[in-house]
This record gives sequence, C-alpha cells and structure tokens, in this order.
Amino acid sequence: MVKLPIVAYPEKILKQKAEEVLKTTPEIKKLIPQMMRAMYEHEGIGLAAPQVGISKKIIIVETSDNPRANKGKSLAFLNPVIKKKVGKSITEEEGCLSLPGISVPVRRSESVELVCQTPEGEDVRIVAKGLTARIFQHEIDHLNGKLIIDRIPLWKRLSVKRLLKSKERTSPLAN
Ligand SMILES: [Zn+2]
Repeated sequence: MVKLPIVAYPEKILKQKAEEVLKTTPEIKKLIPQMMRAMYEHEGIGLAAPQVGISKKIIIVETSDNPRANKGKSLAFLNPVIKKKVGKSITEEEGCLSLPGISVPVRRSESVELVCQTPEGEDVRIVAKGLTARIFQHEIDHLNGKLIIDRIPLWKRLSVKRLLKSKERTSPLAN
C-alpha cells in the first residue's frame, strides 16, 4: 500500500477550500484505507484529505470512545456539512498532525448534527457528541482551509506562529 506523507503547515493546500466529491471513483476507494493507515501511523484520531495533499472533501474520523485503547473504529465520510450545532461550546486542547508539536485550546460545540455521504454513496445524517463531535468539527475546518491556529485569539496566534517559524529554522534538514 502506498504510504501517504502528512502535509504540514505552512503548505498552501491546507489553506484551500477542498472540492466536493461527486462520485466515489476507484482512486477514492483506494485512497480511503491509505488515509486511515496514515492516520494510525501518526497516532491521529482524525484526518482530512488536504492533509495528505488531496484537496477533496474526504475525512476520516475515529469513532471509538476511547481511541487510545481501542483503535480501529475509524470511518470515512464524504462532503460533510454541519447542519446544526447543539449544546454549549467547550474549550479543550487540540493538536493537529499538520502542526506537529503544537496544541492550543479550541472552542467547539458539544454536539453537532451533520449530513454527508458514505464512501458507498449513501446520504447519511449524523448526530455526533463529545470527542467525535470535536473531531468532525476539526476535520470539516480542514476542508474549509481552516486550522486550529485560525481558531485562537490573534495574540496567541502570533506567538504560536513564531514558535512554528523557529521550529522550521531549527529542525534538521533530513526528512
Ligand atoms: Zn488537523
């Protein structure tokens, strides 16, 4: 199986709006297990196609309640759109595979109602809560070209960006 590299900030593709998937082509069918594998290899609990360099509306979401202990319940969703945010907003630390070593507090809705398609082309409506709701919101942000650093106050964003810049300078050239 092809190994997909994870695209990291500040790659432009992470800032772009991803394209709608109109049909599950054989390429997309192949891509989904590759994305799941890349996500697990990097110990992620969610992944959006732009993070592997493909600007299409495809996300992988770990749906297990305890993803650290119980991996293997990741599902793929196409063209997800949030229809309703329910409950209060909760602030929790979030990381992102495209921003290695960074975690910032992000406010998200406790629960979301969304519509999307399965890879089989079926239209589904999903009500997600807790961690799963947070992952959906994070991955849908990716499809809209938004990163967690776009969701924090400006003063904090500036200091995180400075940190990212210094990492670029100090990180070894290998890899
Ligand atoms: Zn992310």
